[in-house]
Amino acid sequence: MKTLLVAVNSRYDHEGLAVWYLKSACEKKNIPVTVHQYTINDSPERIWSSILEANADVVAFSCYIWNRRLVLDLVEDLKKARPGTVIMAGGPETCYEGAENDYYAAGVDIVLKGEGEYRFPMLLETLRDKGLDAARQLAENQDCCMDVSEYISPFCPEYLERIKGRISYIESSRGCPYRCSYCLSSESRKLVFFPHEEIIKDLEALVSAGARVIKFVDRSFNINEEHSLKIWDFIRKFEGCDVSFHFEINPDRLTEAQISSLMAMPPGLVQIEAGIQTVNTGALKAVSRVMDVDKAIENLKRLAGNGNIHIHTDLIAGLPYEDIHSFINSFNRVYEINAHHLQLGFLKLLHGTRIRREAHLHDYKYRSYPPYEVIENRYMKYTDILRLKKVEEALDRTYNSGRFTLTLEYLLNYFPSPFDLYESFAGYLEKKGMLFMPIAAARLFKTLREFALNIPGVDSYSLDSYLALDYASSLKNTVLPDFLSESGIEVLDARKYLEPFIGGHWKKSYQKRFMLLSGSFPGKMGENFTEHNNTMLVDTAFTDPVTGRALIRPFNGTLPDY
Ligand code: SF4
Repeated sequence: MKTLLVAVNSRYDHEGLAVWYLKSACEKKNIPVTVHQYTINDSPERIWSSILEANADVVAFSCYIWNRRLVLDLVEDLKKARPGTVIMAGGPETCYEGAENDYYAAGVDIVLKGEGEYRFPMLLETLRDKGLDAARQLAENQDCCMDVSEYISPFCPEYLERIKGRISYIESSRGCPYRCSYCLSSESRKLVFFPHEEIIKDLEALVSAGARVIKFVDRSFNINEEHSLKIWDFIRKFEGCDVSFHFEINPDRLTEAQISSLMAMPPGLVQIEAGIQTVNTGALKAVSRVMDVDKAIENLKRLAGNGNIHIHTDLIAGLPYEDIHSFINSFNRVYEINAHHLQLGFLKLLHGTRIRREAHLHDYKYRSYPPYEVIENRYMKYTDILRLKKVEEALDRTYNSGRFTLTLEYLLNYFPSPFDLYESFAGYLEKKGMLFMPIAAARLFKTLREFALNIPGVDSYSLDSYLALDYASSLKNTVLPDFLSESGIEVLDARKYLEPFIGGHWKKSYQKRFMLLSGSFPGKMGENFTEHNNTMLVDTAFTDPVTGRALIRPFNGTLPDY
């Protein structure tokens, strides 16, 4: 019986886990299966032809919100072309009340719910030995709890061959003890930790295979202090290995021991993602999210201030009881953390979640197709949501790009709050017809400058100084862009100043590596130059492993100590 597992991932650089779990589980029972991986950006013809040409007796699809429509179409076509093929579907999009009906209607024979690595091999054996009806019955008999002693590593040799230079996921625990009403993980029955020694073995294998980023999909990684500290202690050995590790944490639950462990991490080795979602206690209560917001913000500020960890924070717009004013307050409070990335997300009313079941209580209107995003509710009209979408766009283009750090910090002095700055810039982009449009990085620098020059009080010389530094540091481009050529900022001849320290090279190599800027750089901006400086050096050969930006130092006639 020839079996094909099909995964359509959202991006090429991410390697999904689910199908590899299933493959490993089947191989453990000597059931051969083949994995085909695609992305949603692949041509449908390519996916279609390669599935058909596999000539499989069984085709199993892994279903998520990003591939739902595509998978339904593929299933429908496949059933027409090869009616004898047994089609299975599993994954979050098939699991909850009524969600399976669309898959059955498209032609799926068996919808597999819950954790597949135990049930899928059984299902194939039953199908092979007893036929389709028996397999269907087995699939309907749901829910066996997993036994941690039976951890099945998804990282088979084929997976490891594919992962070089890409993002791998790993799971050291499954389930979440919390019950946030908008989250599918809240529906899982229990939290299970996988054996430490197995995870360590897998981490070694992934790093040896050349994974660029290893993302733990554990829902609340720090919930068990001992477990998290063991793994954090272990990964320190990978300092200098060109790999980083990503963890989702509950920031208010960080213990002092965990904070110390994170603060002692080599710069750039660890990234953390911390969902705050809202600071509105009524909204938190309504969605059963247990969080001490003040503690969460305080802990994240401490970590961000230490500068060794890339920090991603999340907000969700559209929660119950949160109106536009309350959300703006949440935004400004979370902005204070000074994280590297602030995601302004919008509530998704996912199949199977309590918030979807209770949507009528808050007059939710939401998209009936993935990602089931909120359109409006009793507290925010669609006009408010649209207003926030525009701010999200401006925030992503600027703050979250990491390119405008100094310029934004300067501009914030001229706005009552961070939200006002981003909303104002969104309005400017809209006026110029550039909102929700692709904009090249250099053009965005120019556009931000034009916007800023209209702000009362902004000093053009200081503004241009920061823009020039941001430009060189983030784009690693040491030639002043045209739009700053008349600014009065001067690029000094790096060779003339640096040759005594570095030795003789061709002038061009100096110009390529360094930018020596004469301008006005007020103090208190960025960690490396707290006092006013007139000359700054950008060295593109040294990149901050956390921000990815080139090193900036004041230049006082001597080469700074790196
Ligand atoms: S949102 Fe996070 S903490 Fe809440 S249930 Fe989901 S995974 Fe758990």
